[in-house]
Amino acid sequence: MITKFENNKFLIKQYDNLLNQINLNESIVQNLTDIELKEKIEKLKAQYFITNKLSDELIIESFSLTREASIRTIGLRHFDQQLIGGLVLNEGKIAEMKTGEGKTLVATLPIVLNALTSKGVHLVTVNDYLAKRDAEWMGQIYNHLGLSHGLIQSQMNENERKFNYNKDITYITNHELAFDFLRDNMVLDASDLVLRPFNYCIIDEVDSILIDEARTPLIISGEVPTDSIMYIQALEISKYLRKNIDYDLDEKATNVVLNDAGIKQIEKILGISNIFETNQPWVFFVTNALKAENFFFKNVQYIVRNNKICIVDEFTGRIMPDRRWNNGLHEAIEAKENIWVDQSSQQLAGITYQNFFTLYPKLSGMTGTAKTAATEFEKIYNLEVIVIPTIRPFQREDLPDQVYVSEIGKWKAVAQACREMYQIGRPTLVGTNSIEKSEIISLILNDYNIPHKVLNAKPENLGLESEIIAEAGCLGSIVISTNMAGRGTDIILGGNLNFKINRIVINLITNNKIKYAKNRSKLFIFHKLMSQIKNKQTNFSKKDIEYILELNNFNTQKQKLLKKVIVILFFYLKINLKKSFVSKRKQIVELGGLFVIGTERHESRRIDNQLRGRTARQGDPGTSRFYISLEDKIFRLFGGNKIKQLINTFQLTNDDIPLQSKILTKSLDLAQEKVENYYYEIRKNIYEYDEVLNQQRQIFYATRWSVLNTVTIRNWILDIGESVIIELLKYLKTTQTIENKELLEQDLEQLKNLFNFSINLDIKTLKQLPYFVLFNFLREQFWLNYDLKEINYELLMQIKEYQDFQKSCFLKAIDSCWSDHLEKMSELREAIVWSAYGQRDPLIQYKQEAYRLFTITLQEIQNYLIFTLLSTDLT
Ligand code: ADP
Repeated sequence: MITKFENNKFLIKQYDNLLNQINLNESIVQNLTDIELKEKIEKLKAQYFITNKLSDELIIESFSLTREASIRTIGLRHFDQQLIGGLVLNEGKIAEMKTGEGKTLVATLPIVLNALTSKGVHLVTVNDYLAKRDAEWMGQIYNHLGLSHGLIQSQMNENERKFNYNKDITYITNHELAFDFLRDNMVLDASDLVLRPFNYCIIDEVDSILIDEARTPLIISGEVPTDSIMYIQALEISKYLRKNIDYDLDEKATNVVLNDAGIKQIEKILGISNIFETNQPWVFFVTNALKAENFFFKNVQYIVRNNKICIVDEFTGRIMPDRRWNNGLHEAIEAKENIWVDQSSQQLAGITYQNFFTLYPKLSGMTGTAKTAATEFEKIYNLEVIVIPTIRPFQREDLPDQVYVSEIGKWKAVAQACREMYQIGRPTLVGTNSIEKSEIISLILNDYNIPHKVLNAKPENLGLESEIIAEAGCLGSIVISTNMAGRGTDIILGGNLNFKINRIVINLITNNKIKYAKNRSKLFIFHKLMSQIKNKQTNFSKKDIEYILELNNFNTQKQKLLKKVIVILFFYLKINLKKSFVSKRKQIVELGGLFVIGTERHESRRIDNQLRGRTARQGDPGTSRFYISLEDKIFRLFGGNKIKQLINTFQLTNDDIPLQSKILTKSLDLAQEKVENYYYEIRKNIYEYDEVLNQQRQIFYATRWSVLNTVTIRNWILDIGESVIIELLKYLKTTQTIENKELLEQDLEQLKNLFNFSINLDIKTLKQLPYFVLFNFLREQFWLNYDLKEINYELLMQIKEYQDFQKSCFLKAIDSCWSDHLEKMSELREAIVWSAYGQRDPLIQYKQEAYRLFTITLQEIQNYLIFTLLSTDLT
């Protein structure tokens, strides 16, 4: 049998042939001039245009051209391992590459290749900063090859977005991209669309986006007024309810179940006899209040900033200012924190990343941590994971976990480890799962007199983030951080030289600026600056200097002179400074590199591995170790009887000594795998349910797209009119007259007004008339009305306005009914949980009911459209 590892080796070997050919082609492209490189790309484009295929020949040519352009522009030559990464990405797979292996550069290879199609390539990153940095950096390669590239940033308007999406290559964040898609599906005019049809997309940090973010849907919502008082009353009521008597907690599912006693208690407080018979959904409000009280804590799941609840992302430790918990939970937490609730939201459009990214015909991704979620990637997204070998031998040592019986024992051991590292000067990063825990360990370190820095999402700490990270690899540095120092954080052994220089220079210039203001002599600043730079032996890049100079508005000729001198100084100083940094780095390497301490196993091994991945980048040495306790939440909830037994067995042991047992380690690993599976099942479940809505969404959006892109929808409207008449007649003919007499008469009256006929027709006669007579009559009446309106507008020379008006009516009908439909579907989803008790498969039931709602909504769109058209008089 082939083991997983051998299997991966075998998979990598498959690329040998292409790899060799790309390398063989290198000497040929080296001899091409810059203009010839561009011409070659044009030829490849033409070749693709004829064959419509990205053949091996195109791959070999375009990969070698990209490598050559990279050498000529940014001075980096793609390593063979990076070429393999590029080949994997081009096949629509996930390339797992460790931190520091140069994924940014790897992406350029499939990007250039797929840009040959001229259909657009999207490179998706997790934040604006990375998108901008990578677009500017890698953009030099694309320019050199004559390909256009664009960048989308959150503050850009529609025109800028459209302009950038029309480039060969576009760098963008997942958030902006998905929202542009949702917004595109809400526009009323085709000229407002910003996106082109999707072609190829590479997702950076793919596991973060497709797995960690998969559970939260992206929503565009409109605000609707809400009644805060209900949330506040519910909070009061919840204080009179007793845990395990009036209600039970399901900690795993973050759910609250009210018991009979609880329901009676609520009825007693409210003075009503049956809580389910009022038209106010008290159970909903009280359950949310209890959830807010028992599961959601300040500085763990959220922080309070400017009198607002801001969610802290559990995977990145960062706050997500524009996200809200849905279904009333956010409002309940606001009530708990004494924040007045006056708006709640109604969903206008929404999609999950899961559904969104599967819209691309070709999708691929890269990350340092995908292997442990390979099954999920394959089953849900059909994305295979390939582990790319590292460029230099990998030197990280992952020490076995230190396990303690109690949490206190664990924290003491972490503090002790920090003390030992501090004493020898080895830089250490301590990762915690919440802001609260980061503060606990900080307090203990204060007690131990160990200097350290804390990095978490609290506003007062945020401004220091870049400085803390820049210095985290320095001798003697101890940093405690939430998951913020996980993914994407680059900790350099010896510290970040450029950052340090920037800081010193900025201080220097700022001081001089003050003096300049007093002396009014620019020359003075110049000499002063020079001597200070010399004395401090500061080093900085040309770009930094230009930035600083701009900042200070040196607008005279001396600025040029100043720049020249500084550039010369730059090279001279760099040599000096580098020496001291290299020696510090050497010292740290001898100590074993950065020491990473984990303080709790996360609900997925990927997040643990992200933390471990902060050390041992690019062949550096490094160590990681997790300190855990049997009392940690994950083991408490998922450890089962085995861990409980172990706690009992070990209870009497000295808590200062870590437990050593193979069974124990195995049980803990099992517990973590259980959690992973638990959440995977939830995501799979969400996906299955979402699939239903997704198919419906595709139909809605496709209809919308057709309306937007059809010049005249006259025939379409006539067809819809007929179908509305058929439904109407079905209703009038089949509804029992006796019970619904008044209602039917009203409907008939409305019909007469709408279809503009005044013959004497009552319900009784209507019921007696043959169906086809009625149908033909109404159809003619409808056509007549419609034609009359059209002629009227034609006479007024307003036919274009009328066509636009009809289209906008149609689009508004779709949007309004879709928004209502989304709400009904979410209510259905809530309600369907209960049907599981009836021993019926809830998913099947959900699908049946969703289909029924869908057909109703389609009918509503048609009715809405026809009634609006008939009843509106534009002139
Ligand atoms: P990752 O995203 O994989 O963590 P980055 O793309 O941020 O890595 O690259 C890490 C560092 O490696 C960068 O400083 C980059 O300049 C360097 N690098 C990448 N590829 C090469 C290469 N082929 N030759 C030399 N340096 C490289």
